[in-house]
Amino acid sequence: MIQNVGNHLRRVGQVVNIKAKVNRAFNSSMEVGIQVASEDLCSEKQWNVCKALATFVARREITKVKLKQITPRTEEEKMEHSVAAERRRMRLVYADTIKDLLANCAIQDDLESRDCSRMVPAEKTCVESVELVLPPHANHQGNTFGGQIMAWMENVATIAASRLCRAHPTLKAIEMFHFRGPSQVGDRLVLKAIVNNAFKHSMEVGVCVEAYRQEAETHRRHINSAFMTFVVLDADDQPQLLPWIRPQPGDGERRYREASARKKIRLDRKYIVSCKQTEVPLSVPWDPSNQVYLSYNNVSSLKMLVAKDNWVLSSEISQVRLYTLEDDKFLSFHMEMVVHVDAAQAFLLLSDLRQRPEWDKHYRSVELVQQVDEDDAIYHVTSPALGGHTKPQDFVILASRRKPCDNGDPYVIALRSVTLPTHRETPEYRRGETLCSGFCLWREGDQLTKVSYYNQATPGVLNYVTTNVAGLSSEFYTTFKACEQFLLDNRNDLAPSLQTL
Ligand code: ADP
Repeated sequence: MIQNVGNHLRRVGQVVNIKAKVNRAFNSSMEVGIQVASEDLCSEKQWNVCKALATFVARREITKVKLKQITPRTEEEKMEHSVAAERRRMRLVYADTIKDLLANCAIQDDLESRDCSRMVPAEKTCVESVELVLPPHANHQGNTFGGQIMAWMENVATIAASRLCRAHPTLKAIEMFHFRGPSQVGDRLVLKAIVNNAFKHSMEVGVCVEAYRQEAETHRRHINSAFMTFVVLDADDQPQLLPWIRPQPGDGERRYREASARKKIRLDRKYIVSCKQTEVPLSVPWDPSNQVYLSYNNVSSLKMLVAKDNWVLSSEISQVRLYTLEDDKFLSFHMEMVVHVDAAQAFLLLSDLRQRPEWDKHYRSVELVQQVDEDDAIYHVTSPALGGHTKPQDFVILASRRKPCDNGDPYVIALRSVTLPTHRETPEYRRGETLCSGFCLWREGDQLTKVSYYNQATPGVLNYVTTNVAGLSSEFYTTFKACEQFLLDNRNDLAPSLQTL
């Protein structure tokens, strides 16, 4: 499965540098990150061309292989390693996300903004070609190179795209390139492409690939499908307005709507996932269709904070450690202690925010607003007035919890603010926001867990945080000790509501 982001033209005579490395090995699958950069030898200019994440599955004969884990070393490797687990989760639910989106949103055709004077019936863009897989197209085991299939797919897709725009289209992105099964030397590959939807400045072309042996032409195996986004650039590299497409009834109309859903997902993801953390707005509006990306952002922000290698130990009182991290824009802190409790138990106890008022006096009341899925929930939290303010505060918080993928991986409970139309700011409370905070729990032994609480301080609480960090207040310490006591008191008997989670 491949996901491709960005695309800039490369010209003959320029050097292309390709870097690839395994970000993480799971059971039998692994995520490989690939970066392509280009270099102009005359001007020494360098620029990024595109990046992609590929998932490979290791097999020996027909049985799956258990992969050896890799140990990340640098800060960047640790971050990629940790976030790869969240990307895997996002990939696995991709089909469901599309399904939900189509079921829950009526997709509007904004026909006014389209150039309806030029309308192209979709069937005019239809392309079909057949390729015979020869030995140079395959590896030593006789399996067709994935890259070869992709090149053939891009060819037919480009032809379909040019039939819509009657110009030279540029490939912008490829979504979820999924190799369903292998093909071998001697197979015929049938490639079919058609423009599924044309938006104002971009279009989606779908390509489907089937394989057959000449002696059994009717037995076709579906080996690949992909959706490619094309734009048409003018002389100034600006995307041009595209003609409107009229889908064929039936499947054509379905694909037209699905293309809109994929476009929305791509935009949401780009906005939420690829922005630098400091550029993500403090509270992102919650909406069922971007829920997967907000959870992704929630968990990956925390994992990125955890992976930073410039944490400094600021103080240690009775084996509770306080670390700080000063970044360009943020001050973050984390507290750490080892507690005599099972990691899975601590995870259950801390991930239900409704229990938090029991030990944290910064949480006055907690209401579960929405149980989004098994591992994600939205809470409305109120907290007492803090440092000089007269009004109490309230928060709308998305809590995303994740179990470890393998040994050494922590349990993660990530918290971030979102906005909900049903829970707008009221005069009664000052609306507080948390950009990134939460817990990581590492199993240190049978009944031994390292509990870490992380928080990236937002301007509203900065003064409070610095007072604690500077040792002028011991509230953090007291609160964290109360958390330990709460875990110890509840280490054996879980509330029935928690056991079902
Ligand atoms: P879906 O129809 O759900 O999109 P498929 O795997 O059947 O999934 O097809 C993937 C894409 O390939 C389609 O969206 C469409 O763009 C293109 N495609 C499929 N069948 C044809 C065909 N007979 N002619 C042209 N293009 C096709």
